Amino acid sequence: MNITIVGGGFGGVKTALELAKEPYNHITLISDKPDFQYYPALYGTATGHSKLQSWVPLGEIFAQKNNVDVLIDTITTIDPDTKTLTAKSGQRYGYDTCILALGAVTTYFGIEGLDTFAYGIKSSEEITRLKHHLYEEMGERHMIDKHYVIVGGGPTGVELASALGAYLERLRIHYKLPHHKIRINLVEASPRLLPRMHEKTSAKVKRRLEKLGVNVETGKVVQSATADTLMVSGRPIKSHTVIWTSGVANNPFYKANEHHFEFIKNGKVVVDEHLKAGKDLYIIGDNAATPFSGLAQTALHDALFLADNFKRHHDRQSLKKYKAVMPPVVVPVGENWAVFEWRKLRLSGWVASMIRRAADVVGYSDILPFGYAFDVWRSQRILEDEYFTPTAPATPSVKK
Ligand SMILES: Cc1cc2nc3c(=O)[nH]c(=O)nc-3n(C[C@H](O)[C@H](O)[C@H](O)COP(=O)(O)OP(=O)(O)OC[C@H]3O[C@@H](n4cnc5c(N)ncnc54)[C@H](O)[C@@H]3O)c2cc1C
Repeated sequence: MNITIVGGGFGGVKTALELAKEPYNHITLISDKPDFQYYPALYGTATGHSKLQSWVPLGEIFAQKNNVDVLIDTITTIDPDTKTLTAKSGQRYGYDTCILALGAVTTYFGIEGLDTFAYGIKSSEEITRLKHHLYEEMGERHMIDKHYVIVGGGPTGVELASALGAYLERLRIHYKLPHHKIRINLVEASPRLLPRMHEKTSAKVKRRLEKLGVNVETGKVVQSATADTLMVSGRPIKSHTVIWTSGVANNPFYKANEHHFEFIKNGKVVVDEHLKAGKDLYIIGDNAATPFSGLAQTALHDALFLADNFKRHHDRQSLKKYKAVMPPVVVPVGENWAVFEWRKLRLSGWVASMIRRAADVVGYSDILPFGYAFDVWRSQRILEDEYFTPTAPATPSVKK
């Protein structure tokens, strides 16, 4: 079978790895970036820990897979009638079977000024921009911001808020700035943090963050941003450092090709019981309107499901119907402390943080051979990129 996969993230890479196990498959993986990005580790890289934990070159993941071709290109349009993809490069790619796994993008919900003045941590470019800003502010202008504001009380905002204080303190000492209380605000529009988790978990996380010195403001809505002020529910917060972790929207590719797809309210694409959205066209991961879409584990689950059904099709067995599975959620909140939830089980503290460490080993070895995965996992503890220098490469290259 010739299968074209678009998207080198959790869903695309895992599907390609699974399909590559069958020698009768030939896979073309097209992605707009040369690296696989391990999102759960980005907050660690953004706060001075290893880059290795966040980006792994696709070339290394597929180095031993002779039946996988990796192409770097950005797909802009699809024509399901002629089974053709068109790319930004001008190249056209015909396909027999196509799997789309393009992931989500950041949205600012049209809030004035955020696209210009807010920082993000969703890519190496965004993290570099944030570090450059901190370097300019602390390293060159020798000042500490009045507030460091993180917007979004979901897992990313909570993880970042829990690690940012320690990072900024290390920067303060490094740049020889006088002792100064570093104020970190975490702003969330919902009445509580981690709204998708249990209320008791939210309350524990709030207490934990406050213990770490974070000022948690729930039920507060961001209205606008300028270079030095964030308006939050009618109150100005003085800050040059607003980090936006809220708001994700479906990949704009689908809107640009909307006549080929059917959507649900949040912009995700309707798929059938086999994750199909058209003739020989499948959609998985964050793009698909499945119950637990938006989590890496769901993208991995979709990948396994699809690869299994393709094998069944080849072996002339009956196809399985898609069953959504609720994944466990574990959110680290500072060193050696986390919250964990799975069905009715709720844990917090050190044990939960060990579960997170174990989950990361599993996460990396889903994509990489175990030895390599273990090296990457160990690198999470390494403080390597503490002090941004303007010559630092925007996209880190990773060697085994
Ligand atoms: C900061 C952050 C932290 C997270 N932490 C967790 C966590 O702890 N646990 C968890 O379960 N989930 C977490 N998630 C969610 C998880 O990362 C996603 O659900 C998962 O990545 C979805 O996989 P995917 O394959 O659908 O998309 P992605 O992994 O995003 O992959 C999409 C790929 O498509 C490529 N692409 C996009 N557009 C094009 C195009 N037009 N042409 C070619 N290629 C294209 C992208 O470059 C990327 O390689 C986090 C997300 C973020 C942003």
